[in-house]
Amino acid sequence: MSRHLRAIALAAAVQATAAFLPAAVSAGSLQPNELGRVMILEYHKVDQPEGRWTRTPANFRGDLERLWERGYRLVALNDLLDGRITVLLGTTPIVLTFDDSSPGQFRLIEQDGNWVPDPDCAVGILEAFERRHPEFGRAATFFVLPGADPPNRLFNQKDLAGRKLQYLAAHGYEIGNHTLWHANLAKYPASVVSRQLATAQEWIQRHVPGYRIRTLALPMGAYPQDIRWAIEGAEGQAAYHHDAVLMVAGGAAPSPHARVFDPYHLPRIQALESELSHWLGYFERNPQERYVSDGDPSVITVPPGTLDKARRSPGAKVVERP
Ligand SMILES: [Zn+2]
Repeated sequence: MSRHLRAIALAAAVQATAAFLPAAVSAGSLQPNELGRVMILEYHKVDQPEGRWTRTPANFRGDLERLWERGYRLVALNDLLDGRITVLLGTTPIVLTFDDSSPGQFRLIEQDGNWVPDPDCAVGILEAFERRHPEFGRAATFFVLPGADPPNRLFNQKDLAGRKLQYLAAHGYEIGNHTLWHANLAKYPASVVSRQLATAQEWIQRHVPGYRIRTLALPMGAYPQDIRWAIEGAEGQAAYHHDAVLMVAGGAAPSPHARVFDPYHLPRIQALESELSHWLGYFERNPQERYVSDGDPSVITVPPGTLDKARRSPGAKVVERP
């Protein structure tokens, strides 16, 4: 398709879907930019009261509402790593992560003889939101601690730990490595680092056999002395290989289509009120920095003059926005 025809097609597609898009997009201020940045949010406790490491259930619902209204849509971390972003034209992918497997992230309650997510835990809140807004999507990565002391050992319902991990794996969520018991990996030799990571994986896989853990969130953001220990290693029969290593801070991440994207140093944004407001405001004021989808996963649309900033990926062609 010629540039001109492509521009017309894009404009028509924006108009056709305008009814589903946030105001800024339908007003035409958000043009596709798949080299824009993506926020990876980092939650800890979902509980009372609100605090440095705690978001209340009401505030977490409010976060989802704000993201939805501003045109953000959930994508899975592993899909982001693979550059497989399938959100609709004019919308922006966002990744949710939850560290430390605290109880309010995922609590099961019994209802008519079935175990269902508590409507006030993060999983319950996410699913209720998705029922109201199916296009928001469902995705989140849980960086769990299989060997921590209560209440952080696998969400703190001992007899339901396996059921929960299986639920996550089967319902569109991801499970990530966060070490066995929140070890500060900067302090240990290679043997301890690999034992922490391999054993954490092994204990998770006891509940979800064969589950492939692709990502590691560093406790306290502390890298081991040699980054290679975080990426791959083994302890006995258990070998691990991580496709990404996540930090605890650093702001919005580069686009996975950008040459500068570094999966072993993925920055995150802590989901506190101050940080969230800062970054939502930042992208309102700087819409040109935000990842905005062209709606076609087989085409990577980049701003004029930036072709050299994109990396080539098999199965997708990179084109300049007209
Ligand atoms: Zn942690």
